[in-house]
Amino acid sequence: MQATQTPVLKDIVLVGAGHSHVGVLRMFGMNPMPGVRFTLITRQVHTPYSGMLPGMIAGIYDYDAAHIDTAPLSRFAQARLYHSEVIGLDLAGKRVICRDRPPVPYDILSINIGSTPSARQIPGAAEHAIPVKPIDGFIERFEAARTRVLKAQGRARIGVVGGGAGGVELLLSLHRRLTRDVAAAGFDPSGLFFTLITSSDELLPTFPPRMRQRFAQLLRERGISVVAGGKASEVRADAVLVEGNGPIALDEVFWTTRAAPAGWLAQTGLALDDEGFIRVNETLQSVSHPEVFAAGDVAAIEGHAPPKSGVYAVRSGPPLAGNLRRILNGHRLAAYKPQREALYLITTGEPYALGARNGFTFEGAWVWKLKDRIDRRFMAKFNELPEMAEHDQAPVPAIADQAAVKEISAMAMRCGGCGAKVGATILTRALGTVEPAARDDVVVGLDAPDDAAIVDTGANRLSVHTVDYFRAIVDDPYVFGKIAANHALGDIYAMGAEPQTALAIATVPYGIEAKVEADLAQMMAGANQILREAKCALVGGHTSEGAELSLGFAVNGLVDRDAALRKGGLRPGDALIVTKPVGTGALLAAHMRGKARARWVMQAIEHMTLSNRAAARILQAHGASASTDVTGFGLLGHLVEMVKAGGVDATLWLPRVPLLDGLMETMAAGIFSSLQPQNVRLRRAIRNLEAAASHALYPVLFDPQTAGGLLASVPSERAQACVKALRAGGYTTAAIIGIVEPRSASLEAITVELERTECRPAPALSAPIETRDQMLEEMPRAHQPVL
Ligand SMILES: Cc1cc2nc3c(=O)[nH]c(=O)nc-3n(C[C@H](O)[C@H](O)[C@H](O)COP(=O)(O)OP(=O)(O)OC[C@H]3O[C@@H](n4cnc5c(N)ncnc54)[C@H](O)[C@@H]3O)c2cc1C
Repeated sequence: MQATQTPVLKDIVLVGAGHSHVGVLRMFGMNPMPGVRFTLITRQVHTPYSGMLPGMIAGIYDYDAAHIDTAPLSRFAQARLYHSEVIGLDLAGKRVICRDRPPVPYDILSINIGSTPSARQIPGAAEHAIPVKPIDGFIERFEAARTRVLKAQGRARIGVVGGGAGGVELLLSLHRRLTRDVAAAGFDPSGLFFTLITSSDELLPTFPPRMRQRFAQLLRERGISVVAGGKASEVRADAVLVEGNGPIALDEVFWTTRAAPAGWLAQTGLALDDEGFIRVNETLQSVSHPEVFAAGDVAAIEGHAPPKSGVYAVRSGPPLAGNLRRILNGHRLAAYKPQREALYLITTGEPYALGARNGFTFEGAWVWKLKDRIDRRFMAKFNELPEMAEHDQAPVPAIADQAAVKEISAMAMRCGGCGAKVGATILTRALGTVEPAARDDVVVGLDAPDDAAIVDTGANRLSVHTVDYFRAIVDDPYVFGKIAANHALGDIYAMGAEPQTALAIATVPYGIEAKVEADLAQMMAGANQILREAKCALVGGHTSEGAELSLGFAVNGLVDRDAALRKGGLRPGDALIVTKPVGTGALLAAHMRGKARARWVMQAIEHMTLSNRAAARILQAHGASASTDVTGFGLLGHLVEMVKAGGVDATLWLPRVPLLDGLMETMAAGIFSSLQPQNVRLRRAIRNLEAAASHALYPVLFDPQTAGGLLASVPSERAQACVKALRAGGYTTAAIIGIVEPRSASLEAITVELERTECRPAPALSAPIETRDQMLEEMPRAHQPVL
C-alpha cells in the first residue's frame, strides 16, 4: 500500500507499541532509511500514554487525549501495522510467533511490551483482582468495575494494592471519578469506601519524606484508609487478606504492585534476569542475541535498575532508534545510561499535583498545569504528525496541460481495493463496443451483466464465474490476502451460489528473493484461510513482479438451476436490506493519508474480512428475491443496477444506512475515495436530487466498498425476522434501508428519503406491509447515523 521504489533490504520488527517504540517510529518517520522496512506488531492499536492515564481515570482527559494512535504514526514511519498478539519467538529462524497469524520474519527485532503486576503467586489475585498492568486493556477493566459500582448504586468498597506512585495516583483518581459518577447517577457517594494496602510501612517509600507526608494527609482529608506494613497474601471475592491485619472487606481490588514480565519470554531462549525480564546491555541489545533489542519495562539493563515507569521507557526511545540505525549501518553502538534522578510529577486526582526532583518537593495547581503542558506536548508529537511527503512519486510530464496535471495529481492518491475500480460510466462506455461471441450455454453474460456470469455446463447445477483483482489497501499482506479473497467470493454469494474453486493472480513488488517470498507467503496464507473457510479450493494461479502488491481471484461456483439470485429480481413492496455498514472507501483513503484513527481502520478490516456466506443463506432462507454485493460503485450505484435490471423504482431511507465508525468524521474532513467523483455521476438516478444533495449523509451513497455487504430485497413481512437473523449471525449492523416501488413514469428511479418520521404502506402488496418505523425498530442505536 505504501508504494516505494526502493527494494526492502532489512526488516526491523517492533513488538509492542510501548513508549520507546512510538519514539522510534517517529524518529524514523522524520528521517527514513532507504531499504529499511519497519513492522509494528501490537495487540492494542491505541497505546495508552502512562503519564495521562491517571488523569483519564479521574475523568480529566478523554480517551484520544491519553492514547497514541498507531495508525497515523505507522503511516508516517512507512511502517506496516500488524494488529496481533505475540506469543513467542523463533530466534533460530528469526521469526516472531503471533497468536492469530503466520510467523513474521525479521532481520532486527525490538521488544517493548511493558510489564504486568507480579500477582501471579498471590492466591485469588488472577480471579478477583483488577491488574493495572499491562496498561493496554486497563481502561476496559476499569470501565467494567465502574459499571459494577454504579449498578450497586454507589455502595462499594474500593481497594488499591500497592503504595508506590502508581497506586497512590490511581486511588486518588478513582476516588474523584467514582465519587462524581455516583453522585451524577443520583446515588449517595458516602456509600463509597476507599482503602490503600501497602506492604511498606509508609506510602511512596522511594520519595522524599515531605512528599510522603503530603500524600498521607491528602488521603486522610479524602477519607481514604491506609493499611500499611502488611503484604496482601490472598484475594477473595469480597476481601483481601493482609498479613498481620486479617481480611479487609473490598468489592473491587486494583492491583498495582511491582512489575513482572510477560510469561512467554521464559520460553524464547533469550537471556533473562532472575525476575524474567530481558537482559540487555547498555546498547539495549540482548546479551544473548545481538540482533534483538529491548526497551522500557521489559528490559533489564545490565548495571542499572531504573524504575519500571513510563518516563524511563520514553527516554529509551531515542537511544534505541540511534542504535537500530547504527547496527544497520554497521557502526559501533552507543551506550545508554538511564539517568538516576528524574522529575516526578504525581497528580492528586484533581487538577493539582506534587513534584519531586533531587530530594526537593513542590506542589500546586501550577504543578498540575506544568505536567499537563509536558504531557500534551509529548502527545502532540504523535497525534499531530507533520504532513507526509509523497514518496517516490513519478514526475509530471512537461507536456501535461492543466487538466492533465490535475488528473495526474489525483492519480497519485488513488485508492486501492474497490476505490481502484474503473468507474461505472467508463466501464459501460468501454464495454459497449465489445461484442462477445454468442453461445447458447451462457446463461448470464455481458449482455445482461450481473455480479457473476452463469454458464450451463449441462450438469445438474449451473456454473458461476467471477474475477476480482486490486492492489493492496492495507500494509499487512496477510490481512490484505484475507480481504482480497473475501471480496472475490462476494460475487458468488450474491448470486446465491457456493464457491468451488479459485485461481489466484498476484503481483509482488520487485525485491530481494527472501522478502518477496515472505510477503507472498503472508498474503497467500491470509487468502487461503478465507478460501478454506468457504470450502473453496485454491487450484492454481499466476504470479508476477510489479510496482505494487496486488492480488485477485477468478472464482468458480455452483448454483442450483432455479436458485440463482439475480440483481433484477426485486418486487414492488419488498424491503431492501443491507448486511454490512458502508464506509470502507473513504476510511481507507483517510488511512492512506495517515488521517484515520486506528480503531476505525481495524473496524473496517473486521467488516472486510467478514464473509457474506452466512448472510446469503439467511437472505435466501427469508425469501430474498434479488441480491448484489455492494462494492466499487457504492450503495447507490449498486441499487441503480438492481432497479434498472428489475424494472422497478426504490425508496432509500438514507438515515438508516449503517455506517462504519469514523466515516462521517472522515468525510467532514473532505476525505473521499478517489472513485467517489465517478460514482457521484450516478446521482442523476435520484428523483429528489436537490434535497438529497444538501443532506449531510448524501456522500455516503457514493462511497465505494471493498468486500462490502449484500444488498438484497426480501418480502417485507419477513424483513424484520431476516434482519434479526442476520444480526444474530454476526452481521451486527444489518438493516432495512428502503423499499422497492413499482416502476413510475419518472426518469429517475430512486427517491432518497431524508427523514425518518413518515410511515407509509408500500403499494401493490397482498400482505400488509409493516410501517417503516416498525421495520426499523431493531436497528442498533450505536450504528444509527446522527443527523
Ligand atoms: C494507571 C497507571 C498510571 C501510571 N502512571 C505513570 C506515570 O504517571 N508516570 C510513569 O512514568 N509511569 C506510569 N505508569 C507506569 C507505566 O505505565 C509503565 O511503566 C509504562 O507504560 C511502561 O512502558 P513500556 O513502554 O515499557 O510499555 P507499555 O507502555 O506497557 O506498552 C507496551 C505495549 O506493548 C503491547 N504489547 C504488550 N504485550 C504484547 C504482546 N504480547 N504482543 C503484542 N503487543 C504487546 C501493548 O499493547 C502496548 O502497546 C503508570 C501505570 C499505570 C497502570
